[in-house]
Amino acid sequence: MPSEKLSFPGRNYLFAPGPTHIPQAVQNAMIVPQEDHRAPDFPELVKPLLRDCKKIFKTTRGTCFLFPATGTAGWEVALANTMSPGDKILTTRFGQFSHLWYDLACRIGLEVDLVETPWGEGVPIAKFKRILAADKEHRIRAVVVCHNETATGVTSDIAGLRRAMDAVKHPAMLMVDGVSSIASIDFRMDQWGVDVAVSGSQKGFMLPAGMAIVAFSPKALRARKQAQCARCFLDIQDHINTNKDGYFPYTPSVPMLRGLRASIDLLMDEGLENVFKRHHRLAEGVRKAVRGWGLKPCAKSPKWYSDTVTAIEVPPSVNAAEVIHIAYHRYNISLGAGLSKVAGKVFRIGHLGDNNEARMMAVLGTVEMAMRDAGMKVKPGSGVAAAGEYYRKTAKKIKKFGSAKAPREARTKMKKKS
Ligand SMILES: *Cc1c(COP(=O)(O)O)cnc(C)c1O
Repeated sequence: MPSEKLSFPGRNYLFAPGPTHIPQAVQNAMIVPQEDHRAPDFPELVKPLLRDCKKIFKTTRGTCFLFPATGTAGWEVALANTMSPGDKILTTRFGQFSHLWYDLACRIGLEVDLVETPWGEGVPIAKFKRILAADKEHRIRAVVVCHNETATGVTSDIAGLRRAMDAVKHPAMLMVDGVSSIASIDFRMDQWGVDVAVSGSQKGFMLPAGMAIVAFSPKALRARKQAQCARCFLDIQDHINTNKDGYFPYTPSVPMLRGLRASIDLLMDEGLENVFKRHHRLAEGVRKAVRGWGLKPCAKSPKWYSDTVTAIEVPPSVNAAEVIHIAYHRYNISLGAGLSKVAGKVFRIGHLGDNNEARMMAVLGTVEMAMRDAGMKVKPGSGVAAAGEYYRKTAKKIKKFGSAKAPREARTKMKKKS
């Protein structure tokens, strides 16, 4: 593994869709002496943190929970705290992550109505609507979907799904995996009537892996009273009992909490809507590059294009894993692999988190080199030119060169000091 030392000069650039780069401010906030998680002033950290988490999920009615675990545990938190063995849920599989949540639901004893969807497409809302309309006895207790399928780079229309559920007046809860969307792509827990939203620390929150961030609506909270699924470490009741006073039921990772504080501060300072716009713009540049290379994204329609990750299809004569291999060993950047069904057929560029134009140009240029090394007939500079011109055209306005007074003022100030 490349330690920082082994990667010298430079560093291993992370362009897998998680873990993502950790901003310096977040990294610094995490380097703290070990703290007492039972200290009388510990709630001063925890209470505002739990409150501000809700802003990222866009919920005022919901309750956030922080588990020392990963997104996978978040899936289990969602289901185990609201369901009983044998309860029925409706879900769809169109990538590795939607598959894994489906698999988890089966393994904890739920009955799962699984709709297969081609990889590269999003949640089949019309099909779901028909299934829910036919479920006259309301046996389906939850509709469970992945907002951003990280394996294929597909974002689904959760607002549209909620409208479909409401149109057929189905009372099922709506549970959404937002691990690779929340904090990067617009997500509106309250407005979309999401009952449980699941996220994790190492994607849009720009932290190391190790925290599941989950939000429950009042309806989902009520459901725990009847839910019979076995749970202990992941029981939200223990968190409800202790979080109200600003503590946790067991020892939390305090550096992670400090990091989350810094991460939320960065997101709020930039403004969530600006964060979403930045992700969209950087993603658009990547998509222009893909087109410039004469390639296609795995996502089958622009309405499903993800602003956090692009899965790129390679011609059948090429193994996408070789592109990733070369990029890593020769150029020291990490790309996302094709998972399961699309292994070898796609590689993925993660463009979420702490990124700007310069970082995107670096990865796109490097990907171009790795593709050519792997024998792909990509014209040198074709993707980089397309992305660069798009970024230039949409760049932020700055003061005209030479018109700024700032440097001279700064110089005078410096003189005064000395
Ligand atoms: C990364 C990811 C997860 C969670 O993975 P962990 O490794 O358990 O953190 C879940 N869903 C999606 C969509 C993801 O991208």
